[in-house]
Amino acid sequence: MSKIPTFDFFQICMLYPKEKQLRYDSAYLKMAKEWAKLSHCTRKQVGALIVKDRMIISDGYNGTPTGYDNCCEDKKGDTHWYVLHAEANALTKIAKSNHNANGATLYITLSPCKECSKLILQAGIKRVVYIKAYKDNSGLDFLNQSGIELTKVENLNE
Ligand SMILES: [Zn+2]
Repeated sequence: MSKIPTFDFFQICMLYPKEKQLRYDSAYLKMAKEWAKLSHCTRKQVGALIVKDRMIISDGYNGTPTGYDNCCEDKKGDTHWYVLHAEANALTKIAKSNHNANGATLYITLSPCKECSKLILQAGIKRVVYIKAYKDNSGLDFLNQSGIELTKVENLNE
């Protein structure tokens, strides 16, 4: 006779929240991937979402500031200096709203560069969840040193 597996209360508390968190992380990252598709940039398309208290309070993708031509690259194919990264766009959108990013989680398709990692820390983001690591890992190192929780989710169970 096979025995039905039983879990005690503590086992459930230990296992379930992790699994649930991963399901949410994966769902938000999938949305961030959709947001990335909205970017007009041709070299790289990055999408970001900011979630606080289980609510999406902001979103962003890499692109030029309001009032500028949508094109991110010059004739040589280099990115214009004034292009804002996805997380910078999401954070500045919060700055214009009644929300604040303190204690929030940033979901992003590509891990932050060093410039954006400073903004993330100063905005009070507590956790960063990403799919792919950026070529230069100084942003991740900086966030890690600053005590921000980093989670990489490569497998989005699509
Ligand atoms: Zn950046």
